[in-house]
Amino acid sequence: MLNPPLFLNLGGSVANCTANLFDFKVCNRYMSKASQSRPSSLARKHTGKAKKYIFAFGSKTDGNAGMRELLGGKGANLAEMASIGLPVPPGFTISTEVCTYYYDHEMRYPPALKKDIVTALKQVETQLGKKFGARQNPLLVSVRSGARDSMPGMMDTILNLGLNDQTVEGLAEASGNPRFAWDCYRRFIQMYGNVVMGIHAKSEEEEDPFHEALEKLKKSLAITSDTELTTEHLKDLVKQYKALIAKLTREAFPQDVMQQLWGALGAVLGSWKNERAIIYRQQYGIPSEWGTAVNVQAMVFGNAGDQSATGVAFTRDPANGEKVFYGEYLMNAQGEDVVAGVRTPHGISDMKNSMPKSYRDLNNVRNKLERHFRDMQDFEFTIENGRLFILQTRNGKRTGLAAVRIAVEMQRERLISQKIALLKIPAESIDSLLVPVFDPKALKSATIIGYGLPAGPGAATGRIAFTAATAEIETRKGNKVVLCRTETSPDDLKGMLHSQGILTSRGGVSSHAALVARQLGKVCVCGAGEINISYEKRTLTAGKVVIREGEYISIDGSTGVIYKGAIESTDSEVKRVLERGFKPTSSLTYGLFQTVMKWADKYRSLKIRTNADTPEMARQAVAFGAEGIGLCRTEHMFFDGDRIDYMRQMILAVDEVQRHAALKKLLPFQRKDFIGLFKVMNGRPVTIRLLDPPLHEFLPHDDVVRRQLAEKLGVPFDFVIDRIKSLHEENPMLGCRGCRVGILYPEITEMQTRAIFEAAAQVVKGKKCIQVNPEIMIPLVGFKEELIDQLRIVHRVAREVMKAKKVRVKYTVGTMIEVPRAAITADEIAKEADFFSFGTNDLTQTTLGLSRDDMGLFYDEYQRKEIYNQNPFASLDQTGVGKLINLAVEKGRTAKPELKLGICGEHAGDPSSIDFCHRAGLNYVSCSPPRVPVARLAAAQAKLRNS
Ligand code: PEP
Ligand code: MG
Repeated sequence: MLNPPLFLNLGGSVANCTANLFDFKVCNRYMSKASQSRPSSLARKHTGKAKKYIFAFGSKTDGNAGMRELLGGKGANLAEMASIGLPVPPGFTISTEVCTYYYDHEMRYPPALKKDIVTALKQVETQLGKKFGARQNPLLVSVRSGARDSMPGMMDTILNLGLNDQTVEGLAEASGNPRFAWDCYRRFIQMYGNVVMGIHAKSEEEEDPFHEALEKLKKSLAITSDTELTTEHLKDLVKQYKALIAKLTREAFPQDVMQQLWGALGAVLGSWKNERAIIYRQQYGIPSEWGTAVNVQAMVFGNAGDQSATGVAFTRDPANGEKVFYGEYLMNAQGEDVVAGVRTPHGISDMKNSMPKSYRDLNNVRNKLERHFRDMQDFEFTIENGRLFILQTRNGKRTGLAAVRIAVEMQRERLISQKIALLKIPAESIDSLLVPVFDPKALKSATIIGYGLPAGPGAATGRIAFTAATAEIETRKGNKVVLCRTETSPDDLKGMLHSQGILTSRGGVSSHAALVARQLGKVCVCGAGEINISYEKRTLTAGKVVIREGEYISIDGSTGVIYKGAIESTDSEVKRVLERGFKPTSSLTYGLFQTVMKWADKYRSLKIRTNADTPEMARQAVAFGAEGIGLCRTEHMFFDGDRIDYMRQMILAVDEVQRHAALKKLLPFQRKDFIGLFKVMNGRPVTIRLLDPPLHEFLPHDDVVRRQLAEKLGVPFDFVIDRIKSLHEENPMLGCRGCRVGILYPEITEMQTRAIFEAAAQVVKGKKCIQVNPEIMIPLVGFKEELIDQLRIVHRVAREVMKAKKVRVKYTVGTMIEVPRAAITADEIAKEADFFSFGTNDLTQTTLGLSRDDMGLFYDEYQRKEIYNQNPFASLDQTGVGKLINLAVEKGRTAKPELKLGICGEHAGDPSSIDFCHRAGLNYVSCSPPRVPVARLAAAQAKLRNS
């Protein structure tokens, strides 16, 4: 045993645990990140005391699980585990404020930090009776990042720090195991060389130079496993590694342990801004101002011999949520071996036989952690000569299916309440209950070529891409790809994002591929050992089957089966039941879906509508729980069959007479469409927006089609060309569109209104006596006069039709708020409108002065520099556009308290934007049909979070 006994209080009471203290924080990720305040440097400034940058954990613990902002998730949970008596090696956390200071002060540290680190190290030394840098019984530490929200694998870690040519001998003596000491030293040099001194493989196809040297040595010795290397081999490897560093960096590997520590600290802080961390933050809306904490912790050793091991465990299965003890470990190894997927580990249940006492200890920790944190935990452990240590715990990343199942089952087990269960399910997870599965008929003739671990559910088919770069290039060309790698590394993140699915031949359920796929919601099969991937030959071989890059492969992330070729997929059971009326079987997924939706509907106050233009879309949305249509884009109804010709005829008309003639032909189509929608919506509100886009969007761009059009309309080709030219606008998005079209051509508004009311009359008077609830919406209003102009037409035509058809149809007329002027003058506009619907696609475009269609040129750079936290067209710019919405809500409701408010831009399907809409006091959000379930859950979460 290398360390004196630590905290072996495994049986400590859990009755007084305070888990819910931090439940709220865990679930808080969908609030505007920017609006979640950290205890700012300013707020903590003038207290008279020197600022505390370092927080110890061990026999004396300064922090707790509620301090994630300052200590990061890892630091906060280490402190919490130490406090509840779990066996945590002692150490200290350097707070996130050091990271923000570092970036605010040109990579310098707060002056007091140096002294504080020395003091903190001394405390660790005293607890363990070891000394950092001492020849005798040296203390080694790990240096690990730890952001507020965990960012697995995105930042850097250094293990075994404190080893040099002297201390390695001390470690050999203290442990009585020179082989182990030299194994640690070669690992440390490699990691330090990679992370701090910047030595890496030069391209995706190349191996890391250290790894290459290791493999070469093993090959020359004709051995396959690292554990077969003797002390002498490892000493030789250390020599080779040091020479490599000297050659590649022209610097010697540092022997001064304090220099090592500062080097590691700088590298870990530096990794906050590495490319993959930035991409990850963009993906999850994590603000760059949060910074990372750094944890310095005494090393314990899973590579100390054959009663030692290291591993990662989950308190439940993170792939499907089942309540089983899940995880994997490697004997005589260190943590990075497991996560990097370099050796395929044993399943945790094997430990029952190989190390029965450790298995029992571990299972006790599993139970204690889950009851304490009241969430599925993903924890890292090390067994050093039979003694168990816990190095980290966090709420485990999980697939969407697992997130739902774990929350529902924990509620049934009375571990958490219904409200907490709802808050614990990332709203997007609901989507994974709706993911397609392979068509059972197609599967009958499919060729299975291998099996791996099912690590991310769903069915994926695509062309093989062997590198992240190829995956990106192919998807940009419009091809679907499956990224196939021996194992993935953090550098593959971008390629993973682009792929339909990920397949690896090495690594287990906690390998990088599995971890990241789970979080990205990607289909993933990992550790498919029968599959051989050759980057050199660009082939994937399974037995006799050889598939080349670019050819199709299919993977089932729910079963782990790998198939040759492309396979058709089909709807999930939930969709089949909801949309096609299949009888639910005893299917788990349908039951989970129904439970969560029922809970969500019980708590939410926001109504959920949908953006739908066809009866089919409306039907799907209603099946998913939509309570109305919040936006019917009528222009979408003009593209089918002959309609486009009549539409073009209407646009090319030179006078009102010609225009009327064309509109007359369009009227029956419009009426029929509205009848369809009203019938499906069966009395629910249907917001119909009058024609919005620039008219030239309907006109043909190609001369062949223009010529055909001229023939169909019986006009000369030149006439068509001239009319198209005369309608040309330099900036059509700011030109003749929205209500301007109806103002310029009132007969269009007239025809659309007539179609709405004739349809309504027909439905109401039909045999089934279906109720209708039309809401007519005028687009792109900026002046109240624009609205008044269109209102006159709508009310007049409505009166005429109702009189002619002898019916009364209750209807309302409102406007979209899509330009800043409309928000600023919302009080004036509200006097004329029954409702507002925020068109945040255009409102973002007009507020940011940013074209919806043209941000490609600079967007990558904006992302890299983290100017936008998130794409403002995907997630609402709450601090900019959001202010205009708040202003419009306040002004509108002051002028007209009963004003109904909604949103129909794409943001209405985005959980953090939905949270904003709830806080802003809107009545409903209207999203695309497939997003309806996500929106229902997000709306409930917004209510629970904010009440
Ligand atoms: C909007 O601008 O947000 C909106 C819903 O309208 P469209 O996307 O059709 O311009
Ligand atoms: Mg718009």
